[in-house]
Amino acid sequence: MAPKDAAVAASDSWVDPDGFRAPAGLVHAWVRGTNQTVCGVQISRARLYRFSHVQWVDAQPATGRDADEVREVCRKCAAGMGARRDTKPWRRDNPRP
Ligand SMILES: [Zn+2]
Repeated sequence: MAPKDAAVAASDSWVDPDGFRAPAGLVHAWVRGTNQTVCGVQISRARLYRFSHVQWVDAQPATGRDADEVREVCRKCAAGMGARRDTKPWRRDNPRP
């Protein structure tokens, strides 16, 4: 079952011009209060940065508002969060009538 309300753990971190600390590099889904990502990586061991103030959905490069520096989304975490492998969320060329 996909966790609800997941935050983000990322391989890198940056601060945008507004002073907002945002994820960068490779992002994983992380449930607050745990010490591992949804795909099972130990956060302390992998030296990931935690972003408890960033929602998983906001760190998706296609749609997220906090994803400017995100380069890659962990596929296992995406699958664990309920993304379907065959969907292409950034294409919308068949609008409903
Ligand atoms: Zn992951």
